[in-house]
Amino acid sequence: MQNSVTLPTQPIDCLNSIGGQWKAGSGPSFDISSPYFGKKIGQAKSSTKADIDQAVKEAQKAAVSWGRTPIKERSQVMFRFRQILLRDLETISSTISLESGKTLAEARAGLMKGIEVLEFALSLQNLDEGGKMEVSRGVSCEYRREPLGVVAGITPFNFPAMVPMWMIPIAITLGNSFIWKPSDKTPLTSMPIANALKEAGLPDGVLTVIQGDKTAVEAILDHPGISAVGFVGSTPVAKLIYQRGSASGKRVLALGGAKNHIILMPDADVEMASRGITDSFTGCAGQRCMAASTLIAVGDTQHILDRIVTHAKSFQLSRDMGALISQDSRDRLHASIAQAEVEGAEVILDGRKVAAPAGQENGHWLAPTILDHVKPGTHAATDELFGPVLSVIRCKTLSEALEIENSSPFGNAASVFTANGAVADRVAQEAKAGMIGVNIGVPVPREPFSFGGFHDSKFGHGDITGPSSLDFWSSLKKVTTKWTMSTDQNWMS
Ligand code: NAD
Repeated sequence: MQNSVTLPTQPIDCLNSIGGQWKAGSGPSFDISSPYFGKKIGQAKSSTKADIDQAVKEAQKAAVSWGRTPIKERSQVMFRFRQILLRDLETISSTISLESGKTLAEARAGLMKGIEVLEFALSLQNLDEGGKMEVSRGVSCEYRREPLGVVAGITPFNFPAMVPMWMIPIAITLGNSFIWKPSDKTPLTSMPIANALKEAGLPDGVLTVIQGDKTAVEAILDHPGISAVGFVGSTPVAKLIYQRGSASGKRVLALGGAKNHIILMPDADVEMASRGITDSFTGCAGQRCMAASTLIAVGDTQHILDRIVTHAKSFQLSRDMGALISQDSRDRLHASIAQAEVEGAEVILDGRKVAAPAGQENGHWLAPTILDHVKPGTHAATDELFGPVLSVIRCKTLSEALEIENSSPFGNAASVFTANGAVADRVAQEAKAGMIGVNIGVPVPREPFSFGGFHDSKFGHGDITGPSSLDFWSSLKKVTTKWTMSTDQNWMS
C-alpha cells in the first residue's frame, strides 16, 4: 500500500466521455495541478454548448433501452462496478489524492464512503417494491416508478469520487442516463470511474463525462433534454444553479456550503472531545462541508481547549494533513486569519508559521490554526473559511451557544460534546442544522440515513442520498386498472 503521492511522469490528458468515446471538449484548455507540489499534472479542454448538445443526444439514445432494462439487470452492472472499484481502490485513491490534496488515507476513505452509497443503490431492486391495492370493486391502483430520462450532476473539488457517488449509482440504477460535470480543479478521477462503469458493462451513453466550467454548467442547466440536476458546491453557486435550473423547468437539488458549529460543554470527556474536534477541523485540511469551523466553548472548557491545541500542534503536514486546493485558497485563508486578528481574535495556534514539507515547497500549505476569543458576527465567526482554521467563541450558557449557532444562515451540521444526555437532547432538538452529532465531530449519516443540510446549505426539497433520492431521480406513475366488465358501478364506488 502506497503512503504518499507521486507526480505522474508526464501531464495527463483529461477528456470527455460522450457516447462511450473519450474525446476532448471544443472549448479553451485549462491546466490541472497538484496541491501537494503546485505543479501541472494534466490538461483538459472546456466543453461548449455544442458538446453538451451532442452529449444529451447520445444520452437520450442510451436512456431508451437502459430505462426499459429491468432493475435487477441494471443492478448486476452496479455489482460489477463495486468489485472493480474495490480492485482499483489504490490507483483511484492515488489520483484523488494527487489532484485534490487529500492524504491517501482520506482519499481511500472518501471512495469507500461513496461505495456505501453504491451499496444502498444495490438494495433498491429489493427496497423499491412499489405498491398495489384494491381501491374499489374489481379496481386496483398501483405505483410504477419510472426513470426521468437524462439527468445531470455537477460536483465540487473537495470529494472527487465520494460526492459524484452520492448521485451516479442511484440515478443510473433507477434507469436514467447521467451526465456528470466534475470540478475543473479535480477532473482526473472521473476517468477511472467512467472506465470502471464501462468495464462493468454499462451501455455506452448511459454515463457521460463533461469537463469544463461555468459555460458547460449553464448549457446543462438550460438544455431542455435534461430533466433533473443535482449540484454540490458553494452556496453562491448553489443558489444560481437552483434558480437557473428551476427556471428552465428542471428538478434541482443544490447542496451548498457550510459553517458548522460544535458546542463544547465543560463536562465533555477530555480525550474524546479534543480528538474529535481536532479531527473535525483538520480533516481534508478543513476543506469539507462537514468540518467544524466554529467551536462554541461554554463555561470553563480551558482544559479541553489546551488539549485541542496540543493535538493540532502535533500534526505533520503531508503526513497527517493534506494540502489546500490552490494558492488562491491559501492566500484567502491568510487574509481571513489577518482579518480575524484585526477584529479582536487571538491566534493561539498559527499554522502560517509552519514550513512546507521537504520536496513539496511549492505546494499549498497551511497547518492547523486556532483563533480564540472570536466575536460573534465577525468574519471568522460567520463566513465559510474552508481551511484548517478553528474559530473559538467563548460564552457562558448553553442558551447563548444555541443562539450563536442558530444565527448562522447555513445549516449543514452541528455537534455537541457533553456527558449530559439532557444537554445533548436539547442541542439535537434546537440546533437548526440538517445533521447533528452527539460526541461526534463529523456527523455524516450512514445510508439509508440521508445526507443533506438546511437553510443556505441546501436549495430544493429532499436529500441527495437515502430514500428521498429515489423520488428525486425518478417519477411515480399511478396506474388504476379495472378488468371486471360490469358497467353498473362507477369505478369509484
Ligand atoms: P464551487 O461552487 O466553486 O464549484 C462546484 C461546481 O460548480 C464545480 O463543478 C465548478 O466547476 C462549478 N462552478 C463553479 N462556479 C460556477 C459558476 N459561476 N457557474 C456555474 N458553475 C460553476 O465549489 P468548490 O470550491 O468546488 O467546492 C467547495 C464548496 O462545496 C464548499 O463551499 C463546500 O462547503 C461545498 N460542499 C458542500 C457539500 C454539501 O454536501 N453541502 C459537500 C461538498 C462540498
